[in-house]
Amino acid sequence: MTQQQRSTAQWRELDAAHHLHPFTDTASLNEQGVRMITHADGIYLWDSEGNKITDGMAGLWCVNIGYGRKDLSEVAKRQMDELAYYNTFFKTSHPAVVELSHLLAQVAPAGFDHVFYTNSGSESVDTMIRMVRRYWDVKGKPQKKTLIGRWNGYHGSTIGGASLGGMTYMHEQGELPIPGIAHIEQPWYYKHGKDMTPEEFGVAAARWLEDKILEIGADKVAAFVGEPIQGAGGVIIPPSTYWPEIERICRKYDILLVADEVICGFGRTGEWFGQQHFGFKPDIFTTAKGLSSGYLPIGAVFVGNDVAATIAAGGDFNHGFTYSGHPVAAAVAHANVKALRDEGIVQRVKEETGPYMQQRWRETFGQFEHVDDVRGVGLIQAFTLVKNKATRELFDNWGEMGTMCRDIFFGNNLIMRACGDHMVSAPPLVITKAEIDTMLGTAARSVETFEKKLRERGLA
Ligand SMILES: *Cc1c(COP(=O)(O)O)cnc(C)c1O
Repeated sequence: MTQQQRSTAQWRELDAAHHLHPFTDTASLNEQGVRMITHADGIYLWDSEGNKITDGMAGLWCVNIGYGRKDLSEVAKRQMDELAYYNTFFKTSHPAVVELSHLLAQVAPAGFDHVFYTNSGSESVDTMIRMVRRYWDVKGKPQKKTLIGRWNGYHGSTIGGASLGGMTYMHEQGELPIPGIAHIEQPWYYKHGKDMTPEEFGVAAARWLEDKILEIGADKVAAFVGEPIQGAGGVIIPPSTYWPEIERICRKYDILLVADEVICGFGRTGEWFGQQHFGFKPDIFTTAKGLSSGYLPIGAVFVGNDVAATIAAGGDFNHGFTYSGHPVAAAVAHANVKALRDEGIVQRVKEETGPYMQQRWRETFGQFEHVDDVRGVGLIQAFTLVKNKATRELFDNWGEMGTMCRDIFFGNNLIMRACGDHMVSAPPLVITKAEIDTMLGTAARSVETFEKKLRERGLA
């Protein structure tokens, strides 16, 4: 251990004194004190009190390969010793970024031979926004500026990403969205699709895009952007008819189609990318998270060949980051992606652990009185806490039950996340069937406790 050893109480005190946490009510956190995570291996974390915790969220949906891979840390050390940093701005490149680019072109769907590097999902999204607008400039249609996202979509926390995302509580802080951004409703069947079949609803929800395009004017719309499955919004999985209809509409009105694959990418659904699960072909897609399994910060925008050729035809693209294609991050991402492929980790999610999780997930949660819309694909799954299953009535104070349930899971040393009253899970892709069984056993006990508390408090 390189860090100084202190007691949990000392760490908590120093954290409260000096560290501002993301997406956090600082006063309330400091009252409770943080949980100190000190090390990790496979799908497990350990805290400073010695508790072993199952990480049902792969960190923040990112540690696809699992914790503790010494081969990745060795690659990082070797690369740091050899070439810790050099930029790629001024007619230079380096072996790590070239090798990564070559490998990414191999795992990407056909037609994606180029990548642009960033340090995060948010930067990938901001890069994409600038690239989309630049594309239409070069095409001689500079008035095509507006990007359409979705309410409750998540595209990161930078000004561009937060604008395109549909989290109104983020828009409220900081005068967002920026100009040239519009939103349509999310394809959440459980809430919005009541008198339709899922297939009918998928088409109807996609047509909201057409309505919005006609409202703005197709000559002003640059792109539609969506996560194949909305992650942070609560694992909203659109019906199978949704994405093909979205694609048809984008082609009809000559609008770029962008997939934000920051969560769905690199094996989460059992395919390499979420677009392959749903069977559509975007023009651009953004990635980060699973690209390095979180071992180092790196993101990549996959640019389709038509867009790449257009951007290239336009001369200088005035955009980039000091750490675009950072050698150490690139080397680690390369080792990570190669392992996901060569060790058959993505394939195992598709053929074995994904189907197993989905079957067991439905068996485990299908029977609870206040759990409904039990859903998932590959190793991303969720259920929703509801007041009344028969009428699909949600609880009044959206998010309150989710937080209560999440805290019970946490108390049982299982990390799942509450997105409002959606309880979501996305464990490392290396999870075994036996580990799935153990995890779901703990989860079922936690939901039992949750329902007992509901009854005790007269909430249901
Ligand atoms: C996490 C996430 C982002 C933002 O990524 P950061 O690395 O946190 O900037 C963007 N889009 C999606 C879909 C995400 O899940």
